[in-house]
Amino acid sequence: MFSANGAVAPAAYPPPVDPQKEFIKRGLDPEEELIEVGVAIVGGGTAGLACANRLLQLLAEDPETMERLGEVPVAVIEKAKTCGGHNLSGAVMRPGPLLELFPELTREQWREEGFAFGEVTKEAVYLTPTSKLAVRIPTPPPFKNHGNEVVSVSALARYQQREVEEAGAYVLTETSATQLIVEDGRVVGVRSGDKGRGKDGEPLSNFEPGTDIKARATVLAEGCWGHLTGTAIREFDLAKDREPQVWELGVKEVWKVPKPLDRLIHTMGPWPLKVAPKYGQIGGTWLYPMTNAAGEHLVSIGFVVELEYADATTSAHDLLQTFKTHSFVRRILDGGERIAWGAKALPGGGYWSMPKLSMPGALLVGDSGGMVDTMALKGVHHCIKSGILAAETIHSALARGESSFEAYEQAIEESSVGRELWEVRNARQPLQKGLLLGGPLSGVQQISKGRLPGRANWHRNDEKPMFIGDTKDEYVKPDGKYTFDKLSSVFITGNATRDDAPNHIRVRKQVPREIAETWRWMCPAGVYEIPEDAPEDGPVDVIVNYTNCVQCGAITAKGGRLTAPEGGDGPLYQIT
Ligand SMILES: Cc1cc2nc3c(=O)[nH]c(=O)nc-3n(C[C@H](O)[C@H](O)[C@H](O)COP(=O)(O)OP(=O)(O)OC[C@H]3O[C@@H](n4cnc5c(N)ncnc54)[C@H](O)[C@@H]3O)c2cc1C
Ligand code: SF4
Repeated sequence: MFSANGAVAPAAYPPPVDPQKEFIKRGLDPEEELIEVGVAIVGGGTAGLACANRLLQLLAEDPETMERLGEVPVAVIEKAKTCGGHNLSGAVMRPGPLLELFPELTREQWREEGFAFGEVTKEAVYLTPTSKLAVRIPTPPPFKNHGNEVVSVSALARYQQREVEEAGAYVLTETSATQLIVEDGRVVGVRSGDKGRGKDGEPLSNFEPGTDIKARATVLAEGCWGHLTGTAIREFDLAKDREPQVWELGVKEVWKVPKPLDRLIHTMGPWPLKVAPKYGQIGGTWLYPMTNAAGEHLVSIGFVVELEYADATTSAHDLLQTFKTHSFVRRILDGGERIAWGAKALPGGGYWSMPKLSMPGALLVGDSGGMVDTMALKGVHHCIKSGILAAETIHSALARGESSFEAYEQAIEESSVGRELWEVRNARQPLQKGLLLGGPLSGVQQISKGRLPGRANWHRNDEKPMFIGDTKDEYVKPDGKYTFDKLSSVFITGNATRDDAPNHIRVRKQVPREIAETWRWMCPAGVYEIPEDAPEDGPVDVIVNYTNCVQCGAITAKGGRLTAPEGGDGPLYQIT
């Protein structure tokens, strides 16, 4: 954990948390005190709702199984104020799985429903060697997006919520699932979190205790590994013989612009990242054109950085602000107005880092199962497909009166999810050596489309020794018009965390300055502060302003742990 020059890795300071002890409830409460449902889906994002959508389609044609699942055949448990409130993506989506899920809905109707913003007809990829120079390069295979659709996953989740509710699902919004309930080695449901506790956990006047939600099948659709997913992975040893998961962090804005952007753009840096391997920085940007149903021109712009970097002053938020000052980006945003901001982590390990996807009584779908191709920055269509396959597996097992969902593993492997992720299984790992060294190796892997044998390794992001470097010297000062600070950005997310809510972030209070600086710069919401009088060398007492947290999840990759906050807390994204 310590490098030759004494630099220290976040893994040397693990968060004070024992997931199996704290987040697993061994046994259900008495029958009269619990809620019983057929299938409990934790997470009302794209994946969880796709699972609910498909299950209700199947149950509508199978009244006998529907009847057996009781009064609430399908329940979706979502911690945001409404589905979509915590969802954020680029997002340019491969359309196949969504067309499969809603076969009667045309792409024109997607746009009328307000979650899709146009088909990609033109695209371009640039290198940005400096803040002034942008060099167009031939589009590398993973960046080919012709025919894909620009969507908002936040708006898509709202649409999916309306559909499942009409079909009879019970959607519990503002509800966090805080514990996995395990009985005799099988997941039998989840427990919802208490509401109305104060800073120190004390019950306030509006206190409501959580409830056990008993289910015949539980689907973990929490996104980018999650609170219960991480716990289940440990409890059932689902990551045995897999590569460790690695993470990326994306910060996104949506702009309303006077002139339409006529193409989809990706940039591959290196500016404003540093190219020298000691910084360990790999990242890129996107600019996606969007036209909404009212005919207004919007642009989705974002910066994604791998959380494998070593310079503690790396900040995805500040990198995005700086990137917006590049002359070609300024021209695109000129005269425009920022209407949304948000941040979210994504799992980057791909095929080899995917945990086992089933356990007795439960399944993992979407980002919870690590189903993202980060070479192409594509996960939305895998989320939908995995939700469909999970629903079909559960329905078929329950209809036959069986209790094993193991068939799901094979179904994923044989589907577009398994096939596409297999093709790029070794493509991203070489980039952990840096763009210059790893780029060509990664290119060979992409061209071979998975035909080269072997398994490339990942190492954990939190084992990377950190140093306090000079990436920060490049960051622009916010002007409040084109570039913004973290706090005014959090403000426009509609973050509604109570000032006296209990702290849901677990980190060591006292850490070396390198670690404290890592958290301070990394957190897009400005949660971590270093006191002004803290010593330059030696341990630092980190201040955690957890009520600003937008639940991006990045802290879990670099030495901390995001736990489930009180239901309803956090951002209320609309169009991210
Ligand atoms: C910056 C960025 C850019 C991306 N760009 C693209 C792109 O252009 N194209 C593409 O295809 N993919 C892209 N991806 C990947 C894609 O967005 C994800 O794969 C996908 O959105 C994940 O969907 P999900 O339903 O699995 O998870 P999420 O969308 O994260 O949904 C999980 C839901 O579960 C809820 N939840 C979590 N834990 C609990 C709990 N314990 N109790 C209750 N509720 C809970 C959350 O609030 C959330 O609503 C991008 C990802 C990021 C972060
Ligand atoms: S506190 Fe952690 S999870 Fe919350 S926004 Fe900051 S980095 Fe993300």
